[in-house]
Amino acid sequence: MVVVSFRLYNTLSGLVEPFVPLHPGRVGMYTCGPTVHDRAHIGNLRTYLAEDLLRRQLEAHGLRVTQVMNITDVDDKIITKAAAARLSLAEFTQPYLDAFLRDLALLGVEAAAFHPRATEYIPQMITLIQRLIDGGHAYMSDGSVYFRISSFPDYGRLSHLDTKGLVAGASGRIDADEYEPKEAVRDFVLWKKGQQGDLAAWPSPFGWGRPGWHVECSAMSMDKLGETFDIHCGGVDNKFPHHENEIAQSEAATGKVFVTYWFHPEHLVVAGGKMAKSLGNFVTLSALLERGHDPLAVRYLLLTGAHYRHRLQFQEEWLSAAEKDVERLANFWRRCEQGLALGPAKESAGDPLAAAAQRAQGLFEAALDDDLNLPDGIAVIFDLLRDGNRLLDLGQAGRVGCEAALQALRAVDSRLGVIERLAAVEDHLTEAESALLESRAQARRDHDFARSDQLRDQLLALGIQVEDTKDGSRWHRV
Ligand SMILES: [Zn+2]
Repeated sequence: MVVVSFRLYNTLSGLVEPFVPLHPGRVGMYTCGPTVHDRAHIGNLRTYLAEDLLRRQLEAHGLRVTQVMNITDVDDKIITKAAAARLSLAEFTQPYLDAFLRDLALLGVEAAAFHPRATEYIPQMITLIQRLIDGGHAYMSDGSVYFRISSFPDYGRLSHLDTKGLVAGASGRIDADEYEPKEAVRDFVLWKKGQQGDLAAWPSPFGWGRPGWHVECSAMSMDKLGETFDIHCGGVDNKFPHHENEIAQSEAATGKVFVTYWFHPEHLVVAGGKMAKSLGNFVTLSALLERGHDPLAVRYLLLTGAHYRHRLQFQEEWLSAAEKDVERLANFWRRCEQGLALGPAKESAGDPLAAAAQRAQGLFEAALDDDLNLPDGIAVIFDLLRDGNRLLDLGQAGRVGCEAALQALRAVDSRLGVIERLAAVEDHLTEAESALLESRAQARRDHDFARSDQLRDQLLALGIQVEDTKDGSRWHRV
């Protein structure tokens, strides 16, 4: 058993637990992916960003993560919209899938190893449903197949439901539910009756039809990751009934534990309400980009604005503050990179920036190890940034300190995923700025200090602060 210092909240236990992978050194992680019939909004994207943070944290601990993110490319809405547009499912869903994957890439979300599409796993779903029927956990009724919840006593364990209510529901028919001839009202559909020639219908031992949403994720996850795997992720609204049903189907079929850790990031809210397509209050990433926002600032705000298990109130104005924050981080990164060219300002062991950076890095890791507390972790890094800039201004930090600060920033960025990308994009001077710096260096070589001071003021007016140290001049943006 390999125990890493990372602790993660597990919805199943309701506790923050030490993370222990099922197999030393590797982790299987399944993410409920999008239903591709519309553009994703940033509330959806916040969930994928939290999952990206989790994956990066596991990787920072040296674990090899196999992430699977499914694509739901068949459901009622897709069928209705595709039919209205006179397109096949594949023709209708592909542009939404492309847009979704583009959004994830713009936000710096690491790509999953597999993106199984529901329509490509119909045989695995049929096999799973057949196993459930054979085991007495599912039954056919009027051409559809339903899961028999009364056959799975553990039902409700994930969402901590009152199972007595469910048992009562299971004991009698609810007549009002006339369209679904189920034994019990809570029983959910595994296979929906259809007809040959429907836009979405496949032949099966139970007749023509199509799978229910819940069984899709059980079949795809177990096909890719095995009957028992480490982490299952999804937005908090997936907890019930989707994930509860996945556990029931999977464990009833295999007799094994399905998943050891359940990960549920909270909603993004707008003016007190959940951001949702159905409420019409949603914002897409492309809309924010059209209004001039940087995708890295969106990533930063959605990751650091609140802990992933807390709701995050979204206000577009906050993106401006996020843009300033990431710019400050990138500037500090660049300043430390320039500092590498300097000789040590003082004895290596005594560089105060090195000491501050090591301390900050330790505190950052401790915060991330505590159930991915990135908001606390990033606060520590801004303390380092403030202290580091002051030490550099005073000429009290040298190469060793800059190296240590860069090492800390790299560690932070392996989770945050914005600093280096931004520093790399803008880590250059314009030709005019370079010419001014060069003229100033020449003036200093000529001992023309009046001109050198004048050029320094000119550069400062452009937002470039120049400092002279015994090892030469360096600059940073202010
Ligand atoms: Zn799912």
